Amino acid sequence: MKWSLCFYTSLKKILLKRLSVREFIKDCVELGIDKLFVLAKDTESRVYFDTDLCEKAYDGGDLFEEIVRAARDVGIEVHAWFCLYPESVENPSKYLREHPEAVLVNKYGKTNWEEPTWSYIKREYSKLWVCPSHEGYREYLASLMREVLEKYDVNGIHLDYVRYPEALEGRYYCYCPRCLNKYEKEYGYSVYANDVIERRYFVSILCENVSESVEYFSDVAKVYGASISAYVFTDYVTAIESCYQDWPYFSQYLDFIVPTIYEVAPDYALFLIKKAINAVMHSGCKVMPAIMTSSSTRRSAKGGKRWSSDRSTKYILECINKCREASTAGAALFLYDTTSVDIIDELKETLSPGD
Ligand SMILES: [Zn+2]
Repeated sequence: MKWSLCFYTSLKKILLKRLSVREFIKDCVELGIDKLFVLAKDTESRVYFDTDLCEKAYDGGDLFEEIVRAARDVGIEVHAWFCLYPESVENPSKYLREHPEAVLVNKYGKTNWEEPTWSYIKREYSKLWVCPSHEGYREYLASLMREVLEKYDVNGIHLDYVRYPEALEGRYYCYCPRCLNKYEKEYGYSVYANDVIERRYFVSILCENVSESVEYFSDVAKVYGASISAYVFTDYVTAIESCYQDWPYFSQYLDFIVPTIYEVAPDYALFLIKKAINAVMHSGCKVMPAIMTSSSTRRSAKGGKRWSSDRSTKYILECINKCREASTAGAALFLYDTTSVDIIDELKETLSPGD
C-alpha cells in the first residue's frame, strides 16, 4: 500500500479569502498529499456542509461540496472531520438546547450549563461538553455523518474529541445520572464513596462510554462502505488517565488512528509511534501520526528532552522520516490553515509526489 501523506484543513484560509479552492488543491498536489481531513463539524456547534439539522459556520454556497469535488478530481481522498462532543456556550446547537441533560456534570454536581468545561481555569476557555454516554446526542451526530456520507463523495469519517475533556483536577468529570447509574448497576458502588478501591473502577465506566460511541459511529460508516478513523492522544497511558480515551481497545472499530506527536522530539516520537503500532496491532488498525506544522509552542515551553520547540521544516521532515522508519501507514500534517506559506513552500521542495 502507498505511504499516505495527509493534511488537516479547517477551511479557514479559504473562508477568509486568503486563497481559492483551486490554489489550495494545487498546494496539496505539489506537497504529495493523498488524503484530506476536511472540517465537517467544529467545536462551536456548527457544521461546514449543507444540512437542516445544524447551523452552518459560513454564509453562501456549499464550500464542502466544492472542496470534495476538487480533491476527488485529482485523486485526493476526503475524510469528513467531526469534532464530536464540545459545543459553544454562547451558541449551543438546537439539539443540545432541546436535550440539556446531555452535558457533563462535574464532581461538585454542577452541570456544564452552570460551570462550563474549563471555565474554572479561564472564562474564555468555556465549552459545553456532551457526555459520550448520551445516546440521543450520539444519534444526532450519526445523523450528521449519514448526511455527509449520502450527499458528498467522501471516503470516510474522521472522529476528533472522541473523549472526555482533560481534567486538571483529579477525576473532574463526569457525574451525570447516566454515568452514576451505570457505575452503581455494574459495580454496586456509589462514586462518592471515600474508599479508593471502590472509586478506581469508575475510570472503566467512562472509558466504555467513549468506546461504545466509537463502535456506534463505526457502524454508521460501515453501512456506507466508508472508512472510519480517529484522532487520539499521543500516549495511551495518558489518554486513558486524563480523558478516558482507551484507544488500544476501540481501535478494533477503526481503519486507522492518528495519534499526535505534537512538539515531541524526533527520537522520542519514534518510540511513541512504535508503541502505538504495537498497541493496535491486534485489531488490524493502521497508525498515521499527526505532526504539528503550525508554529505554536505549548507542551515544549519548559524544555525537557522529550519535547522539541523547533518548528522548522527540518523538524517536520525529521518527524515524517521517523514515521517512515517505524513503518506507519503514513503521516498527517496539522494544520494547513495555520501553517506558514514559507513552511509549505519548503515542504514542497522536499516532499516529492509519488514517493
Ligand atoms: Zn456522564
